[in-house]
Amino acid sequence: MGSIKLEQLSKSFGEHAVIPGIDLEINDGEFVVFVGPSGCGKSTLLRLIAGLEDATGGRILIDGKDQTQTPPSQRGLAMVFQSYALYPHMSVRSNIGFPLKMAKIDPAEISRKVEEAARILNLTDYLERRPGQLSGGQRQRVAIGRAIVRNPRCFLFDEPLSNLDAALRVAMRLEITELHQKLKATSIYVTHDQVEAMTMADKIVVLNKGRIEQVGSPLELYRSPANLFVAGFIGSPK
Ligand code: ADP
Ligand code: MG
Repeated sequence: MGSIKLEQLSKSFGEHAVIPGIDLEINDGEFVVFVGPSGCGKSTLLRLIAGLEDATGGRILIDGKDQTQTPPSQRGLAMVFQSYALYPHMSVRSNIGFPLKMAKIDPAEISRKVEEAARILNLTDYLERRPGQLSGGQRQRVAIGRAIVRNPRCFLFDEPLSNLDAALRVAMRLEITELHQKLKATSIYVTHDQVEAMTMADKIVVLNKGRIEQVGSPLELYRSPANLFVAGFIGSPK
C-alpha cells in the first residue's frame, strides 16, 4: 500500500505552465525527495498529489487506482506542513487527535491512537500541554503526530524543517528518517536543501522549472549526474 504513479501530470496557473507534464513512479515504502531551487514547482507538485490543487492535465494513480479527481481527504495521504498549523488553544492531545475527531472516530479509539503516536514521537509527557509551551522541534513532532494517527498510505512533507535552526534541523532530519524506518510508509519530502536530499532519500527527484532533470539514488546522482544542472545543484564533480 502506498505506490504513486504520475502520468503526464500538468498544472498551469493562467498562462503560466508551472508543471508542463511529469511522469514519475514512486514505490511502496520509498522515501522520495523532491529537490530543486525555489520556485521550480516542488510545492505545486506535492499539492497536486495531495489534491490541494486540481491538475490541468494527466493522471495520479495511487495503488494503481486513478485518484486524479478524488478529494484530498479520501486519497489516504497525510500532509505535514512547514508552518506547523497547530491550534494554539488546544492541547497536544487534541491537536494530534483532531483529524480523528473530525472523522467521528470513537473517543476511546482516538485516545489509543494519539497515545501510540505520542510514544513513537517521544511526546508522551507533553500530551496535556499547549503548542505555545513546546519547542519548535516538539511542535513539528505534533504536526507529524497528526499525520500518523490517520494511518496514511503516504506522508507528504513540504519543507518541514525550514523554520528550525540549524542544530534542530539536523536532529529532526534524523528523527524523520528514524520514523520512516519504524513506519515504513511511503514518504514524499520536498526541500530546496541538497544536504537533506542526499542524506534522507532512497530516491531523489531533481526538479527545474517544473520538469524532472533526473531521478536516482543519492549515489547515482552524485556519481553520474545527467547534466550540468544536476551536477551543480547536487555539488557532484561532473
Ligand atoms: P517551490 O515550492 O519549488 O518553491 P512553487 O510550487 O511554490 O515552487 O511555485 C512554482 C511556481 O508556481 C512559481 O512561479 C509560483 O509563483 C507559481 N505559483 C504557485 N502557486 C500559484 C498560484 N496559486 N497562482 C499562481 N501562481 C502560482
Ligand atoms: Mg515550496
